[in-house]
Amino acid sequence: MDISVIIPVYNEENNISMLHERLRSVLDQLTNRYELIFVNDGSKDNSMPMIKALSKRHPEIKYIDLSRNFGHQVAVTAGLDKSCGDTVVIIDADLQDPPELIIDMYQKMKEGFQVVYAKRKRRQGESIFKLWTAKVFYRLLSRITSISIPVDTGDFRIMDKRIVQILREMPEKNKYLRGQISWIGFNQTYVEYERQQRNSGETGYTFRKMLRFALDGITGFSDLPLKIVTYFGFLVSIFAFLIMLYALYSRYIIEDYEPGWASLMIVILFIGGIQMIAVGIIGEYLSRMNNNIRNRPLYIIRDSNL
Ligand code: UDP
Ligand code: MG
Repeated sequence: MDISVIIPVYNEENNISMLHERLRSVLDQLTNRYELIFVNDGSKDNSMPMIKALSKRHPEIKYIDLSRNFGHQVAVTAGLDKSCGDTVVIIDADLQDPPELIIDMYQKMKEGFQVVYAKRKRRQGESIFKLWTAKVFYRLLSRITSISIPVDTGDFRIMDKRIVQILREMPEKNKYLRGQISWIGFNQTYVEYERQQRNSGETGYTFRKMLRFALDGITGFSDLPLKIVTYFGFLVSIFAFLIMLYALYSRYIIEDYEPGWASLMIVILFIGGIQMIAVGIIGEYLSRMNNNIRNRPLYIIRDSNL
């Protein structure tokens, strides 16, 4: 097998046949030994029956039907685990990633790269909120991690079989694939493109999923939040010590003291808030550790023709 294309699918019934058409005309130019692996991530619409029907007519179509919605990163991981191509492509099902770009990416790989990712020059049809949070997040992440995770890049990319084999050996449960792939290294480069609007349907990334994904990226690749907590703890303690000295001084030396309810409340609430945040940050790391210790399977397959 030359090329495996992995397509995570969550409620994409109106995109599947067009995606298949466009992928087919692109891949036919490159090779005739390719497979399209559709990973159905617990879609509630007609996506799965459509994929199955297509696979009856086209032998290159493979499918993995997960037992429920496990999330985008896990769906892609399931596809990676089953892929057998020498080159592997990850692409969204909603046609926001133009299949035609695969040709450029494939050519670029031939120049001696193991990973070619697609970097968005511009994004169309996204809310200002999403554009802004994504922009800030990617820059923050690249500052606080020691590896260089490229900014403005999704999972749309093409990579060598070797990278996929290494990914399979990385056992973490909270997947942040683009970070893991950067971590692996070798020669990586990018091609630029303009991200299109979703062809049909609506985003499967709710705010909650986005937040969890962002936290997975940070906790998976940086300990800085924990360190900030420690530094801040020291800072606040020094400050508190000075106030204590001052309080003793005014009580016993100059004997000028007042009930001071307001200032006390402020200090208590402030320190209380900081402590809650600190415990919360520790909790984020702990819950991920717990996840890994439980060691449950990452996903369950209901049905597959692989
Ligand atoms: N997706 C998935 N599981 C989910 C959410 C999304 O497999 O829980 C798929 C979705 O079908 C699409 C890709 O992941 O192929 C990207 O998702 P989406 O387009 O909803 O995200 P956005 O482009 O809005 O960030
Ligand atoms: Mg999309």
